Amino acid sequence: MSKISDRLNRLSYSQTFVMSNKARDMKAAGIDVISLTLGEPDFDVPQKIKQAAFDAINENYSHYSPVPGFLELRQAISAKLKRDNDLDYKPTQICVSNGAKQSIINVLLAIINDGDEVILPAPYWVSYDEMVKVVGGTSVFIETSIDTEFKITAEQLEKAITPKTKALLYSSPCNPSGSYYTREELEAIANVMAKHPDITIISDEIYEFINYGGEHVSIASFPQVYEQTAVINGMSKAFAMTGWRIGYSACPTWLASACDKVQGQMTSGANTVAQRASIAALQMDPSELQYMITEFEKRRDLVFELMKDIKGFKCNLPKSAFYFFPDISYYLGKTLNGTEIKNADDFAMFLLENAHVGCVGGVSFGSPECIRFSYAASEEELKEAMRRIKDCLDQF
Ligand code: PMP
Ligand code: GLU
Repeated sequence: MSKISDRLNRLSYSQTFVMSNKARDMKAAGIDVISLTLGEPDFDVPQKIKQAAFDAINENYSHYSPVPGFLELRQAISAKLKRDNDLDYKPTQICVSNGAKQSIINVLLAIINDGDEVILPAPYWVSYDEMVKVVGGTSVFIETSIDTEFKITAEQLEKAITPKTKALLYSSPCNPSGSYYTREELEAIANVMAKHPDITIISDEIYEFINYGGEHVSIASFPQVYEQTAVINGMSKAFAMTGWRIGYSACPTWLASACDKVQGQMTSGANTVAQRASIAALQMDPSELQYMITEFEKRRDLVFELMKDIKGFKCNLPKSAFYFFPDISYYLGKTLNGTEIKNADDFAMFLLENAHVGCVGGVSFGSPECIRFSYAASEEELKEAMRRIKDCLDQF
């Protein structure tokens, strides 16, 4: 009998960390690997935010905070949601957590019973399906392809809903596809969901600011679904604060109280110094962060041009986030240097071992024909990575 619970045995390791650890181990062994695995901005935290953290330490913010976060931080989040998203949330509707990851699991723990279905448009972020498994739910996938920029339609959504559906969970801008839903597309989705008010929409908007010119719309801004939506966001991507571990949810009051209850038994309030620093971050004008977006966009354009020359890669131009998600079906079923490529994970491993470039296979994102590259890396690394992949694949 396994000492590990059935629940945990059902869970897979996060593929993003599996591949980044592999790349790190190879580097430690002296191999010159370029890792485009983990999605995290490579910028430093802006000075104002760091200063607020120093101040918080000096001002002795060293005790437990309220479970859902300091009131001042929840007020700053409330002001941000109004300023950027035209959303009205009172601080009592907001729960600050140890990253958006925890915000999502809080919501799932709060609403999912055994056997409940959660609709995941594929590709989805790796942790969604695994979190659904942990809480005893069943994921129902809606397939998409590169030809529709990996986006679902309202009709597809309508068909996927059953009497067991409890939630719809997606990210827009999307990790891994780099697509985002337009106002019209989201309105059509909202209209379908409004017919099912007992189904919760979990809208992960963590890449909100990393958008190259398009309008970011939160589905919660459609009044017909406000009462059934949980908005997820956080500090990791917009402010390059992945290690500071601050995320948040904004929900109808009943759901916010449930998140508070879950978190109060699991982890308590998030790190106090990081919370104080997050207040300073949220009070910055978004234009102060534009330099990161401008840089990401330059890198995206560079990689897009270089990827066009890579044999067997079918790629669209991602309009947001910092990922490329090329379709590599050309290589599936082939044997390269003695390695049989059954799916995109085999291909990602092949590239790591043969081109010394790390990426993440699409199987755990629900797209076994695609691979994900993060372009949150320097221009030199990106150029060299694409050169290595091209040279490696030109042989076949
Ligand atoms: N959602 C998506 C779509 C993500 O890509 C990430 C990446 N880490 C998260 C949530 C979790 O972010 P956090 O660092 O705030 O936990
Ligand atoms: N969200 C990032 C990614 O997808 C960080 C890793 C993780 O949290 O899984 O690479």
